[in-house]
Amino acid sequence: MSDLRIVIAGAGGRMGRTLIKAISEAGGLVLVGALEHSGSAHLGEDAGLMAGLRADGVTVESDVAPTLNGADVVVDFSSPGASVRLAERLAEAGIAHVIGTTGFSHADNAAIAAAARRTPVVKSGNMSLGVNLLAALTRRVAATLDESFDIEIVEMHHNKKVDAPSGTALLLGEAAAQGRGCELSTSSERGRDGVTGARKPGAIGFASLRGGSVVGEHMVIFAGPSERIELAHKAEDRMIFARGALAAARWAKGREPGLYSMADVLGLSD
Ligand code: NAP
Repeated sequence: MSDLRIVIAGAGGRMGRTLIKAISEAGGLVLVGALEHSGSAHLGEDAGLMAGLRADGVTVESDVAPTLNGADVVVDFSSPGASVRLAERLAEAGIAHVIGTTGFSHADNAAIAAAARRTPVVKSGNMSLGVNLLAALTRRVAATLDESFDIEIVEMHHNKKVDAPSGTALLLGEAAAQGRGCELSTSSERGRDGVTGARKPGAIGFASLRGGSVVGEHMVIFAGPSERIELAHKAEDRMIFARGALAAARWAKGREPGLYSMADVLGLSD
């Protein structure tokens, strides 16, 4: 079987460079393109050297069409606007799209869902096995407990992260809402400040901490009368997201068009 041909979007970023390393360590995968935006300082660099490896002959480009030529899957950890534009291009070209980018608006999500009617798209705010298991556990616990248990989601990330709550916190919030049988859009409570009044029964609360070099920590708290359950995940290395994204890339190739999640890739969907 021939190697899976992968293009990375956001190649110069923290995740982009981790993905280049992960591809070099995996069998059956080959990096065929590295995309960055037209103002990137990385344009023209060798992708392998940029990731701290040996030169691999793949140059970082901003020109999407030639870079996509011959690609099986694009693995994309860039920015919301870039991912939406790319989703439209990949739908036209019929190339599978693995989206790890976070911070999408409702309109962005709708545009990606439209693109997924024409090509397979795997999108997840967290590509790691551990967090997707945590989401499955969260759904289960939320389905078991009633509203006398308040659900709070706390996350901490490094000081360069630009969006809050994290995509993972939102993914966990969706899992909690599904378990409880409510809509996250109408139940979530974010950014409390000042005299907020008492906590709304049934709310799903979010709190975001930022600092240092923390890769990603999440805790789902179920606080009930006189007892508390806490489910937590701590990411120690970005490699867990990269390996998950590459598992999604292998899974996506040749799939029917559709919008899939990591739960689908990992067989965790109920
Ligand atoms: P980062 O270091 O800022 O990397 C993003 C990269 O994308 C940067 O090199 C950025 O360039 C580049 N970029 C911006 N616009 C682009 C465009 N139009 N085309 C191509 N590249 C473009 O951030 P990161 O830590 O790697 O994270 C990237 C995204 O993945 C974030 O949304 C983050 O929340 C998410 N993430 C998801 C997971 C997951 O498991 N799903 C895990 C970790 C991170 P400039 O720096 O020059 O702007």
